[in-house]
Amino acid sequence: MSEAAVTTPKATLATVWLDGCSGCHMSFLDMDERILEIIQRANLVFSPLVDRKDFPDHVDITLVEGAVSSEEDLVKIKKVRAHTKILVSLGDCAVTSNVPGMRNPFTVQSILNRAYVENVTLPHALPSTVIPVLLARARPIHEVVPVDVFVPGCPPSADLIYQILDDLLAGRTPSTGHLRFGA
Ligand code: SF4
Repeated sequence: MSEAAVTTPKATLATVWLDGCSGCHMSFLDMDERILEIIQRANLVFSPLVDRKDFPDHVDITLVEGAVSSEEDLVKIKKVRAHTKILVSLGDCAVTSNVPGMRNPFTVQSILNRAYVENVTLPHALPSTVIPVLLARARPIHEVVPVDVFVPGCPPSADLIYQILDDLLAGRTPSTGHLRFGA
C-alpha cells in the first residue's frame, strides 16, 4: 500500500464499477448510517449511486470495483486515473481479476462461442452490438494504471471500506491490519 491521504477540508469521492458483480458496491451501501457521516466529509461526485454520466475533472478518492475486461473498461480506467488523486482498487476482482479472470485460460472467441452458440437452443448468433469488445484477458487494475491503495476481499466488508475511507479522509495512510482475500 502506498503512502496516500487527503488533506482538503471537504474532499471529493467517486466510485466506479468495471467488470464486477456489484457486490463491492453493495458492501459500500452496507456502511448504512456511516454513509451519512462519510458524505458530511466528502462530496460523492460520481458513482452508479448518483445521476452523473461524465467523470469529473478532479476527484480526491475513487474506489474502483471490478477487473479491466473490455475496451470500454480500459478507456474508463485510464480516464479515472488521469483525474483521480487516490485510486483505490476495491475488492478481489480489482486487485487480482478474481472471477472475471476465470476466463483467462481461454480465448475470447471460444468464450463467445460457448456463451452464444454452443449453450443455446434458440436461434443464435454472436453479438455485434451492445456487448463491449472483450480484451484478451481480464486484468487487475494495477496492470493497467497505477493504484494507490489495495483493498482485497470478496467483497471487502463494510467495516473495512469505512475504515479505509475514514483513514484517507483524516489524512492517514490506511491500516493494512484487516486486509484479506476472499469472503
Ligand atoms: S470482489 Fe467479489 S463482490 Fe466484488 S465485484 Fe468481485 S466477485 Fe463481486
